[in-house]
This record gives sequence, C-alpha cells and structure tokens, in this order.
Amino acid sequence: MIGIVANEAEHSTVVEFFELFKTPWEFWCPGTRYDVLLCSSSTIPKNDARLLLLYGSQQQAFERGRGIKTQSVRGLDFVSFRGERMPIYGNCLLFDDHGNKVLLHNGTNSTAAISTASGAQVVVRVGFDLFEEVLHLLTKEQPAELAGIPTLDLHISLLRELIVSHGLTLVVIPPVPADQRFIVCLTHDVDHPRVRYHMCDHTMFGFLYRALIGSVIDFCRGRRSLRQVVTNWKAAFSLPLVFAGLAKDFWNQLDRYLALENGLASTFFVIPTKGDAGVDSEGRRKRRRASRYALTDIPDDLKKLLSANREIAVHGIDAWRDSAKGRDECQDVQKITGTAETGVRMHWLYFDSQAPATLEKAGYSYDSTIGYNETIGYRAGTTQVFKHAEVDHLLELPLHIMDTALFYPSYMNLSDDEARAAMLPLIENVTRFGGVLTINWHDRSLGPERLWADVYVTLLRDLRARAPWFATASQTVSWFRRRRTASFVRIAHDGNSVRVRTATDPAAADLPALTLRVYNSASSSHKLGSKENALFEDFTIDGSDEVLVAA
Ligand SMILES: [Zn+2]
Repeated sequence: MIGIVANEAEHSTVVEFFELFKTPWEFWCPGTRYDVLLCSSSTIPKNDARLLLLYGSQQQAFERGRGIKTQSVRGLDFVSFRGERMPIYGNCLLFDDHGNKVLLHNGTNSTAAISTASGAQVVVRVGFDLFEEVLHLLTKEQPAELAGIPTLDLHISLLRELIVSHGLTLVVIPPVPADQRFIVCLTHDVDHPRVRYHMCDHTMFGFLYRALIGSVIDFCRGRRSLRQVVTNWKAAFSLPLVFAGLAKDFWNQLDRYLALENGLASTFFVIPTKGDAGVDSEGRRKRRRASRYALTDIPDDLKKLLSANREIAVHGIDAWRDSAKGRDECQDVQKITGTAETGVRMHWLYFDSQAPATLEKAGYSYDSTIGYNETIGYRAGTTQVFKHAEVDHLLELPLHIMDTALFYPSYMNLSDDEARAAMLPLIENVTRFGGVLTINWHDRSLGPERLWADVYVTLLRDLRARAPWFATASQTVSWFRRRRTASFVRIAHDGNSVRVRTATDPAAADLPALTLRVYNSASSSHKLGSKENALFEDFTIDGSDEVLVAA
C-alpha cells in the first residue's frame, strides 16, 4: 500500500494519477503503516515506511540536514531514466553527487534524483513536482516537438521501478486487457463522404490542383509512383461523369474500409449538421469548416456501418463550446444508432479547457479530440484513456495518429516510407506500456488524390501481427471505465497478501477481462537502472470473485 502526502490542491490530480497507475494507495492516515510513503509536499510525517519517496522542486529538510548542495533550474528541461529522455515542464532541483544517482539531468549531467539508505528505510529524493507535472500533461498540451514522448506513462513507470527495484512487492491492474498486450482503436472522421457534394467549391478546385499538378510534382520528387499519377489524372477527368451520376464516386471508400478491416472493429465519426461552420475559439466562422453533407444524405452508408457492427459517433461542430448544440448533435446521431452512450470528436480538433464540462453536459460519454493536427504522438503524454478534472462521467480517449498530420505538406509532409517509420515508435510504445493506440484515417484518404491506402494497409498488417485487441472507441472507453471501477481490498494476512475485487458490470460482459499484475521481489533480482524490466506475474481477474495473491 502506498500512502500519499500531498497538498489539498493536488488531490484531484493524485486521484487521477492513481486511476492510471491503478495500484493500492490512499492519502496518508496517521497511525497506518505504509510500505511506500510518497510525499509531494515538504511536510513529512513521522513514519517507518520501507521506501520514502520525496518529490519536489523546492529545497527540503532532507538535503539541508545532510548538507547536500542543490541547484534550481527553471522551465522545460529533460531528465533521463534508464537512458530514456523525459521532459520536466516545471522547475527541477539538482543535487550534488551524494548517494546513488537515480535520475540524471540532461542539460548539466548532474543528478535530479538521489537515493540513500537510512536505517531500514530507503529515501529517494526526486527534484521535481510529480503531480504538477501530471496536471500539466492532462491540462496543457505537450509541444509538438515533444509529441513522441509518452511522458505521463514514463512518470508511472519511473514510480513503479522505484518501488520494485527496492525489493517491494507491487500489485497493479495494468492498462492491458487479459490475453492481449494493448488496444487498437481504428477511427475515421467522415468529412468528405462524396466528391459530388463539392461541385465547384474550394474542395473540388483543391482536389483538381493536387490530382493534376501536385501528383506530377510529387512524381518528379520521387514521392509518387507513375501508377498513382495515372490514377489521379483518371479520377480528375472522370469528375464530370461523377457529378452526372454516371461514374463511381471515388471518395466513397466505405466498402474498401470495411474490406480492409474485415474481422476488426472501427468507429466512424459523422457530422450531423450540414452547412454550419461553427465558431472557433476566437469567435470566427471559417466557411471551409462547414460540412457539405447531412446524415440524411448518407442513409445507405449509415445502414452499412450498423450492419457491419461499426460504431457511429459524432464528429462535432459546436458541441465543444455550446452544450445545447452539442445535445442536438448527439441526439441526431443517437436517432440512428439507438445507443445511449455516444462519443464525440470535434471537427478540426476544436477544444478548450471548458470543453470537457460542456461535452459532458451535452450528454456525451467520451471525447476523442485530444491529439495534434500537425504531428503524431501524445498530446497528454499517455496511451491511456483518462478523465478531465472538471467532469464526472466523460472520459478522454486520446488521439495518437492522424493521416493528415503525416502527409500534409504544411504538417509532417512525409513520404509513404517515412510515414511508416514515424508510426513505428508509437506501436512500440503501446506494446511496452499497454493502453490504446488511436488512429484516425479520414473517410476519403484511400481514394484519389490522397491514395494513402498502401500505408494504411501496412499499418494494419503491422498491428495485426502483434495481436492486440481491436476495439471501437466506445468499447475501449468502456474497458477503461471497468478498470477504473475495479477496487483493491487489502487484507491483513502476514501483511503480505493482497485481495482484489473488481466491480462487475453485466453490460460490459463482452469486454476482455482485467489483468492483475504482481511484481514480486522474491522472484526478481532486479536492479534500478538495469535494462531488464522488472519481473511480474499476471493473473486474469474474471467475474466477481476475489483473487487472492500471496506476495
Ligand atoms: Zn473533421
């Protein structure tokens, strides 16, 4: 059991951090014995914890009492743990050489965390504010140049390693469905279901330019094959026939998606309102943002999706800033799906700090907007579904990879091979940390002039090879919700046994079970700083039975 000493203002962040870590913990209670005591304020109660973790960027009695010299560094900086670079967004306190170096500060190569033994107790002094870092990640986005670092997941793994490497048994429910290593959430924003809805608008002229001229330029630069240029030219010249209804609409790629994703699950975000551009955070209306289709224009698509067991969710226009409009958007889609739990992703990823509360008020059960337009990676620093502080029910499914970020000239501007290479570290991270990899490949991206199908096909192949759980956005969120409701009951049995109870939700019976992971010091000769991961044993938690683990 971990005891936490934190300032009142940090309590909600502490609670969310431990929903993501998911290990037995409580706020410090006088008289209770803890294996690990984590203090994020300078108040350190009298204790006999085997491991005392002191986080904080302000000077504390620990270093003053030991005569350890410190130096304070301000603003964004990096520490490295086991050779891995981790950004620290707040201040950092560095220690002169004293005791064991746990974390190195990249800029100065001095020590950002040290450990010393004091009788039977090991004290680790970490020179940054853990919960301020977590709050920063969950409320402010990581800058695009650091998007590739799953910083929040690194904080969790650092804390876990600190505990396990000091010979303590640790029990967690990892973000890993039983018998799988991670979750893949395939999603598609439906922005342009037909090219014929765009007769003589800016989208059509943009298409013609990119198909006829852009393709040739890309061919000359070695970024397109001749076959692709021919496909795009043919599509451009077939446009009058498409408008006349005499040729296939090459932006209608639904059947192809269903074929490529045969046997998998996916979620389609559809725009409920036609011709409404909505309002951005500065109160401006950008006409180009308005959808050229309404749900009544694509009844066959919607039927096809439902009969293929696909999830239909809302691609919102104003839901993020206006809960009444958000409710209308939600209800329009619920009329089609008939489901009570509906998710949303905002068109153009419009969002602000009020949006979670507004979306919850509008009746949504999850949002999947927290991602980048311009790059791929971890805007909130995590592969996990999390909860914003201002809401009770709404969960956030972070968005990690968007096709337009990879290929748009004004964003990453990658070739097919470069895009494949850019996505690999994200696949490796989710394999390592668990959690979910959320991908958004737009509705028309398989067709001309984008022709981003080859990359999608290899992405699916790479993912299938790792046998994750392919889930809809709503299934993913439900699984995380189930994990959040799981509770630990510690029992006094040699002080070393742990009993785990999970709340049972009959409606969620089709979801994979949770896993109980026990890091056991007895079976581990693990040393902090070694490249090996700590040894652990997994148990599947099934039904309402309690699982007893002798640790
Ligand atoms: Zn969109």
